[in-house]
Amino acid sequence: HSKASGRRRAQWFDTAMEDALLRKRRIERDLREALRTDALDIHYQPIFDARDQSVSSCEALARWRHPQLGAVSPATFIPIAEETGIIVELGEWVLRHACRDARRWPELVRVAVNFSCKQFQQPDLVARVEAALCAASLDPGRLEVEITESTLMQDTEDAAAKIAGLRALGVRLSLDDFGTGFSSLAYLNSFPVDKVKLDRSFILQLSQSPKALAIVGAVAQLTDELGIELVAEGVETGEQLALLRGKNVHLIQGFLFSKPKPREEIDLLFAGRRADSLLKVVA
Ligand code: C2E
Ligand code: MG
Ligand code: MG
Ligand code: MG
Repeated sequence: HSKASGRRRAQWFDTAMEDALLRKRRIERDLREALRTDALDIHYQPIFDARDQSVSSCEALARWRHPQLGAVSPATFIPIAEETGIIVELGEWVLRHACRDARRWPELVRVAVNFSCKQFQQPDLVARVEAALCAASLDPGRLEVEITESTLMQDTEDAAAKIAGLRALGVRLSLDDFGTGFSSLAYLNSFPVDKVKLDRSFILQLSQSPKALAIVGAVAQLTDELGIELVAEGVETGEQLALLRGKNVHLIQGFLFSKPKPREEIDLLFAGRRADSLLKVVA
């Protein structure tokens, strides 16, 4: 029986692979179409300062509602966009729209945009960012570019040049998903970043793992001494918040304060607040 069932299994495997491939092709095709027709969307997630509930920045996160499949998660479409190169165009789309949206917010609030590796490696990246800022009339100091350690590792010389170019414009740089890669305190010395974002996987361990908590404390102390801001990503519980604050981590991004929200809701959040006042916001 083993031969027959083996064949059946192989066949099933082929079919499953074919399905996955078809689905991927379909998503690729429809994603291109969505970009062409402006059918993508951006949600923004505020980052709070737990000390006074003020909002210092909002992260732009791509959203896609497929006409038949419904909402497709970034966890699905971003990897496909990266594999196919669509991410370069998608990233530029998000950048241009995010800069325009941020113009409506109080002047103290920055917008953070994720750049994938391929996008960051474009030879004319710095000029593209400058053009997007110009087109939106957004002060470069209000844009934060988020990259990951893997982007830095790909081509360290090129990355250093890009970072220097962006900083010369006045744009700020954040190291995203810190704690997932080869982190890499050495990077903090070699690459001048303004902000480090502790990955959610780390925050998830806080309450069970004294070691994770100790590492967070050490990173907090180090970034503080280097003049780098530290953000905790994916904070969902009051317990996590308390543990983080105990380690002097006060910048918080997570469902506890706010989920990513459509532009209109973010506008409402800021409505009526003076640019120079403390942005006391209750999620
Ligand atoms: P990221 O840059 O690390 O963004 C943070 C992710 O954590 C977002 O997921 C956000 O919704 C989620 N998150 C925030 N707080 C919480 C929380 O308290 N609990 C949980 N469970 N999740 C939380 P999202 O929007 O699904 O995006 C996933 C990833 O997709 C992003 O991770 C980023 O790497 C990528 N991505 C999204 N938009 C873009 C884009 O425009 N360009 C590029 N290159 N990548 C993007
Ligand atoms: Mg990010
Ligand atoms: Mg992140
Ligand atoms: Mg992350």
